Amino acid sequence: MMKHLSGGDIRELHLRLVQMKIRLLDEIQNAEADIKAAHEVREGEGRGGSDTSEITRFEELRRSEMEIDDNHLREVEEAEHRMSEGHYGVCVDCGKAIARERLFALPTAVRCAACKDGLL
Ligand SMILES: [Zn+2]
Repeated sequence: MMKHLSGGDIRELHLRLVQMKIRLLDEIQNAEADIKAAHEVREGEGRGGSDTSEITRFEELRRSEMEIDDNHLREVEEAEHRMSEGHYGVCVDCGKAIARERLFALPTAVRCAACKDGLL
């Protein structure tokens, strides 16, 4: 298990996952604040009958960005879980080791390059 990764590699990759998580949580929090603010503006102006389509578009954009961040956050948490369970860095499809370089480029990778390409 994870023989292709040294203890130092795992520590470095774990650090990156933690940093990704902090950044995502921060972005999700910002998006939530924007959505709340946009909602309040819409509530207030809606009654006045003014055009709120721009603020609605902004709200929808922030909402879709937040969904993407949410999905990334889930991937990060799943990677952390695999790490704590001791099967991090193993391809979920073929069970072979995911290349160290690939993990450093994409710490949340669940498939080796060959299996990922096979899916495209
Ligand atoms: Zn594979």
